[in-house]
Amino acid sequence: MAAAGAEAPGGEGWRAAPRTVPCPPGKLPKPGKPGRNARSDRRATRRDIAFRATDTAAPRRAPRAPPCPRKEFYFLIVAWCVPCLVSLDTLQELCRKEKLTCKSIGITKRNLNNYEVEYLCDYKVVKDMEYYLVKWKGWPDSTNTWEPLQNLKCPLLLQQFSNDKHNYLSQVKKENHRALKPAVAEYIVKKAKQRIALQRWQDELNRRKTHKGMIFVENTVDLEGPPSDFYYINEYKPAPGISLVNEATFGCSCTDCFFEKCCPAEAGVLLAYNKNQQIKIPPGTPIYECNSRCQCGPDCPNRIVQKGTQYSLCIFRTSNGCGWGVKTLVKIKRMSFVMEYVGEVITSEEAERRGQLYDNKGITYLFDLDYESDEFTVDAARYGNVSHFVNHSCDPNLQVFNVFIDNLDTRLPRIALFSTRTINAGEELTFDYQMKGSGDVSSDSIDHSPAKKRARTVCKCGAVTCRGYLN
Ligand SMILES: [Zn+2]
Ligand SMILES: [Zn+2]
Ligand SMILES: [Zn+2]
Ligand SMILES: [Zn+2]
Repeated sequence: MAAAGAEAPGGEGWRAAPRTVPCPPGKLPKPGKPGRNARSDRRATRRDIAFRATDTAAPRRAPRAPPCPRKEFYFLIVAWCVPCLVSLDTLQELCRKEKLTCKSIGITKRNLNNYEVEYLCDYKVVKDMEYYLVKWKGWPDSTNTWEPLQNLKCPLLLQQFSNDKHNYLSQVKKENHRALKPAVAEYIVKKAKQRIALQRWQDELNRRKTHKGMIFVENTVDLEGPPSDFYYINEYKPAPGISLVNEATFGCSCTDCFFEKCCPAEAGVLLAYNKNQQIKIPPGTPIYECNSRCQCGPDCPNRIVQKGTQYSLCIFRTSNGCGWGVKTLVKIKRMSFVMEYVGEVITSEEAERRGQLYDNKGITYLFDLDYESDEFTVDAARYGNVSHFVNHSCDPNLQVFNVFIDNLDTRLPRIALFSTRTINAGEELTFDYQMKGSGDVSSDSIDHSPAKKRARTVCKCGAVTCRGYLN
């Protein structure tokens, strides 16, 4: 299996999300000096304001904006009630006119009277002077201005612009040194917007997750942004009518769960972990962890899956046409718990119905809970965690285990993914979509299941032992 992505953890790749860099004034025209035309007027005012905002010795009020027409104010109110009907640009423009701050649309106290370059949109040379078209943070596109290179103090964004330009031009192999072709500028702006969208999504994922490991998002491959219909959850989301018991009926009273007759023994199985928190039982054997009724504390060696993902992982765009994938940013020891597979818990009949509706891609998110019965399925198509993005491989580095913690109903195990070997930082994580909790690939159960009506998906895992299909 190929290691995915060349970037080392902490490398430029996933940290390259655009940092807004204050763009301090260059050679400022004297305040009040009239400009030659409307555009240069605006630039003069802009620099003027930037200058005043940083000039703490002599604070002066920014010039008042012209009074806002009543009609526009009305639209502003409407905009707050129905934000989806008004573009971000319009909202920002109205806020600026009314001198209102609103963090969620990027207008803060700091940038209300100050100017930061959000990204660079275009480039040209006029009379041997280099100019960049600047998108100002918190200002709509209509207020973008051409600024001479010497006024721009944002080396990271200039570098980003240059990288994006070269990436694009390396594909078309035509370069014009005096001005960019519209297609190039368009690409650079799309790339900048994508970077901002992915950064927002990354922030949202990290706000929602309850586990220790951080989640990063990276796309150095194409213009694909965050998925539009995906919601991050940390645990199973049972469909109406399905109840997940959240308190076990039995708990141990060990003083040391590693040596005493503990919860696993009560269930008739071995303790799943060694002293190094590695799984030591063979695939197909269930894990019974200590639960909320147990006397032991959080450091009990039999509490691993319940603590959640400990590793920093990165959702990244694969370059081999497999869409999004997940790679680890840190080294993972062999036989270690990596992540849980979560999603909506639905009945198998409902899974069958959805399976008919889903395209090939959607079907691969259906995970049958077939540990002891085949009543339920986990559907991670719309609701899921990082595991939603983990690709299939016929030669995977993750292995599935059934886990029981507070819910001891054998029809509803939790699904945990453990490493089968040492996984180095930067390597893509994969599991075998056919290898359910039973421990091996049971092609029989696939052939005989009602799932055979589902369309088959060609596997692109590239493993020597590739079976050719995902389902
Ligand atoms: Zn115990
Ligand atoms: Zn216990
Ligand atoms: Zn315990
Ligand atoms: Zn394969």
